[in-house]
Amino acid sequence: MPRFKEREKLKKHVLERIKVLFREAKLQFKEKPELADRYVFLARKSAMKINLKLPREIKRRFCKHCYKYIVPGVNCRVRINKNRVIYYCFNCKGYMRFMLKMKKIK
Ligand SMILES: [Zn+2]
Repeated sequence: MPRFKEREKLKKHVLERIKVLFREAKLQFKEKPELADRYVFLARKSAMKINLKLPREIKRRFCKHCYKYIVPGVNCRVRINKNRVIYYCFNCKGYMRFMLKMKKIK
């Protein structure tokens, strides 16, 4: 099925773009945090457009409530509680929880 392959290719391409955006956000965060937030917005938007599931390492780099770029220890607090990693966003005072014991995918 060529269409399926095309889609996979597109997803790979978009994921690369998202990774670049996050790399850029990291660099810009200190001086222009609003720019980092804008990159998060763009990354999310392009992911949603093609229904792409973001990988875990990217999911943890922005707040799922206010979509701000977060840096652990700077604008979010990280705690571990009962096999969960809990991120507390200083901006929206929201919590995010991630399971520590995740089934290994791949
Ligand atoms: Zn937040």
